[in-house]
Amino acid sequence: MRTKLALVPQMGLDVIVEEVELADPTEYDVRIKVMTCTICNSDILALKGIHNEYKGPGAAGHEIAGIVDGIGAKVTYVKPGDRVLCTEVRAGCGVCPQCLAGNQWFCENQPEDAHAFVLPSQFTRDNGEVVINTCQYTSGFAEYCIAHESMLCKIDDDIPFRIGSALACGFMSGFGAVLNRSKVSPAQSFAVVGCGGVGLSAIMGARYCGAVPIIGVDTQENKLEAAKRFGATHVFNPKECDVVREVKKVTRGYGVDQSFVAAAGPGIKKTCFDLTADYGQITIVGHGNRRDEFMAEINWMDFLFGKRVTGCVMGGITLRRDIPAYMDMYRKGLIDIDALLTNHFSLDQIKEALEDSLTGSLKNVVHIGEPAPARA
Ligand SMILES: [Zn+2]
Ligand SMILES: [Zn+2]
Repeated sequence: MRTKLALVPQMGLDVIVEEVELADPTEYDVRIKVMTCTICNSDILALKGIHNEYKGPGAAGHEIAGIVDGIGAKVTYVKPGDRVLCTEVRAGCGVCPQCLAGNQWFCENQPEDAHAFVLPSQFTRDNGEVVINTCQYTSGFAEYCIAHESMLCKIDDDIPFRIGSALACGFMSGFGAVLNRSKVSPAQSFAVVGCGGVGLSAIMGARYCGAVPIIGVDTQENKLEAAKRFGATHVFNPKECDVVREVKKVTRGYGVDQSFVAAAGPGIKKTCFDLTADYGQITIVGHGNRRDEFMAEINWMDFLFGKRVTGCVMGGITLRRDIPAYMDMYRKGLIDIDALLTNHFSLDQIKEALEDSLTGSLKNVVHIGEPAPARA
């Protein structure tokens, strides 16, 4: 079928919107009529080839919410008309030893390319070029896209598509990681370095778990203001103070019980390591390119006092267990997803939407199958 798709003719951010041919869904694939796709920083990194280099045209968009429009012959989870979100996390088979142990990420029965980036898409340009999916198996900045059924989670009728989209990556990467990996306990002290969408979601997670104090660290004042709105009790800007010293001052000299890396860049992980108490735990989510991420500045003896380092991708969530819980939390006002959403765009405004994401917006929404709300 014909569909509009946002693509870059080659690696970079020169996005154009054009009509392309989309193949029909086969086997376990599902065609989604995309209603909203929110912008994640990973979309920008992926299009630029920072996650993985690629040749030829590329497309992105992995925080997708929409309506099932067609299904392959082997699909059992959804039917046309179902409301779904689509994410890079796969639902496991549910019956293999890893799934039974709660490790759906390591399911033995996932498709071989379940964790691969840079895959040929089902979109073909009129000049014959096959578009590359730069964010795994699908690209949601399009009117229609194809996804594997394991990437889908049904969303309830009262959950707006924009919320479904926003739950599909950045939020879970912060909030999910705090609950599933950090496992923050009530009254533990918590600090997050990097207060973008993921870091603010981690703050929401820490607040939900009962952490106190909750400390936000960022170099941008608007992000520190946002951190306070989401529940940070203290905020520090490394450009203006010695963050490690300030964190120790508000934690009786110990450092925090739990720290969280939600940004990439030189020295950030070391700062996080240093502001964590000896018996504390550091959870790493923010990262750059693999070749730049070695722990050269940490001495192994620093671990003798019990410090732990861990991390996860996509919040380590179990897709069809955690998303329904997040929908309930949203409904009850326990998490404020709307406050994460900054500006709203149509698909034709995708270039503007991506550029705006680079200037301090928390999370921008691209409305595709529904009209974008009027700009304030
Ligand atoms: Zn499994
Ligand atoms: Zn993402």
